[in-house]
Amino acid sequence: MQPFTYQALPTRVVFGAGAFARLPEEAAAVATRLLVLATPEQAGLAEDAGGRLGDLCAGVFAGAVMHVPVATVDAAEAALRRAGADGLLAIGGGSTTGLAKAIALRTGVPIVAVPTTYAGSEMTPIWGLTEDGVKRTGRDRGVLPRTAIYDPLLTLSLPPRLSAVSGLNAVAHCVEGLYAENANPLVSIMAEESIRAIGRSLTRVIHTPDDLPARSDMLYGAWLGGVVLGSVGMALHHKLCHTLGGTFNLPHAETHAIVLPHAAAYNAAAAPEAMMRVARALSSKDGPGGLYDLLAGSGAPRGLKDIGMPEDGLDRVVELALTNPYYNPAPLAEGPLRALLGNAFEGRAPVVAPPAEAVA
Ligand code: NAD
Repeated sequence: MQPFTYQALPTRVVFGAGAFARLPEEAAAVATRLLVLATPEQAGLAEDAGGRLGDLCAGVFAGAVMHVPVATVDAAEAALRRAGADGLLAIGGGSTTGLAKAIALRTGVPIVAVPTTYAGSEMTPIWGLTEDGVKRTGRDRGVLPRTAIYDPLLTLSLPPRLSAVSGLNAVAHCVEGLYAENANPLVSIMAEESIRAIGRSLTRVIHTPDDLPARSDMLYGAWLGGVVLGSVGMALHHKLCHTLGGTFNLPHAETHAIVLPHAAAYNAAAAPEAMMRVARALSSKDGPGGLYDLLAGSGAPRGLKDIGMPEDGLDRVVELALTNPYYNPAPLAEGPLRALLGNAFEGRAPVVAPPAEAVA
């Protein structure tokens, strides 16, 4: 057994079909008046939540958008102050939770999160903020939601494509968690279990979006994926996706879904135990191949070229990936990185690099 350090996350988790009904009692344990946050698309759900909260509801701000622009945070914080709220209810996906975290970072108000995608942000201390086109991220335990209510009934409406890429986003947290620099045995158990749960349910929710047992499995896997992301550090895959998203404005979850099999292939020789666990969780011959099959079976786009990536930008991504050194199991080298991105661009099957090839 390798030495390790483990720090449990303090967020209270309430999980199950119908758990949303427990919102009033759970919210009352956290704050006296909560501002409900949502995207414009989920304004109806936010109003429903506000109605359930009754006197605990200080108002609804349904203006959350992707990437947490600072102007949105300013507007939501002003709404919080106007309403005299002392808590936030974030109901929705990673964009809404991200808005709540950015307000919590400024004001210290506690958050209740009701996630409706598989992004997992509600279980992480990671915040993000976009100003002048640049997204900054950081870790602060003060932004961790006090309570997360996971109700699979709220995910039945998640469209098939979003379900696919959001689920693969959760799998990405787990694959990198398995070979993280600070990996630990408990988090690795969660990571493998998450991949197993999502692997067996992903195609079911795509073909039958109202399959409640499969939706429960997906949300369970998403919760575990969030714990993994919130507990250990990430590596090449997340770095590449951050660069692709930030520099070329590619959609977050789609980018993760496409790059994952290739990043796993890049690291396969350097992280054999992690890849064995991925393969075992997916009942596949090998980890990268199993991840690619999962992507292919989901019907989501397979190539970066399909989601707006310009081919002449690939060299720039390699350059950026090499400029700020960071932990990765396999050493970062220009040729293999360019090959990885070329395969991801075209949507080809991943190519497992031999160990010597990764060390240029
Ligand atoms: P999202 O929150 O942007 O949601 C996408 C769209 O789906 C929105 O219009 C939303 O209203 C809608 N939607 C959400 N749930 C729905 C449902 N059940 N039914 C119908 N529509 C629904 O997407 P996301 O993938 O959850 O989040 C992506 C963002 O989260 C990115 O900006 C990413 O950086 C961030 N993120 C942060 C962390 C973290 O730890 N800080 C982790 C993962 C993702």
